[in-house]
Amino acid sequence: MERKTVKLLGINIDTFGFEDAVEYTADLIKTQKGGQIVTINPEMIETALKSPYFEKILNNADLVIPDGVGVKIGLNIKGFNLKRIAGIEFSTKLLEECSKNHFSIALIGAKSHVLKKAVQILKSEFKELNIVYTQDGYFNDTERVLTELKEKSPQFVLVALGSPKQEEFIFEARKILPQALMIGVGGSFDVWSGEVQRAPEIYQKLGLEWLYRTTKEPWRLKRIFPTLPKFFLRVLLSRENVKRER
Ligand code: UDP
Repeated sequence: MERKTVKLLGINIDTFGFEDAVEYTADLIKTQKGGQIVTINPEMIETALKSPYFEKILNNADLVIPDGVGVKIGLNIKGFNLKRIAGIEFSTKLLEECSKNHFSIALIGAKSHVLKKAVQILKSEFKELNIVYTQDGYFNDTERVLTELKEKSPQFVLVALGSPKQEEFIFEARKILPQALMIGVGGSFDVWSGEVQRAPEIYQKLGLEWLYRTTKEPWRLKRIFPTLPKFFLRVLLSRENVKRER
């Protein structure tokens, strides 16, 4: 399967639909090609505009899926009608694939009790899940974690450290474990553990999950504003014609 990307404010975003993205990813794991998967949102694009290092990470990724509804709207403004792929649904589906195919996995991130609970729940949901390594997300000795990761050599690594930390961690980890596929999953462990509720379906359908999350965790407002209006303004003013760029 060939990747086809479009550009939004200089960042390559993949055009796969959900099923194709899963198939493409499962293949990267199976064939041990490995790589980095990014679930992108407007805040990450704004970060990349300020940090060449982060931009390099995003544009070197092996799959960039449009997670945030803001990215979907941004692409719409540029004339592209991509479907949004919710990161949490994508990662859950990948865990199902891992369970089916007996791929070994590692989970890194979140608070210790959240991680433990998530592992317990995931194991009961996906009976054949082969978890070979776990590490909570509050460590300072990255070298130790990388060494342990190399020892366990998982095929698929889920990293929940928030952005840009998780993408930067993966970028480094890829150097010691090039055959593994790694994905940054943000707050997914919190949802899997049951600590945080996903927005009701109606919010999901309307693309208003961010609004629901903000009412539950008001501190997020500081992150969304002024980043989101700035992002949309930038998209509107940009001359980038994504239709011509491949
Ligand atoms: N986290 C972590 N280590 C850190 C900072 C954050 O493990 O140093 C975890 C945090 O506990 C949470 C996740 O990373 O589980 C970040 O979730 P958030 O919803 O903020 O992610 P985002 O909105 O960036 O997807």
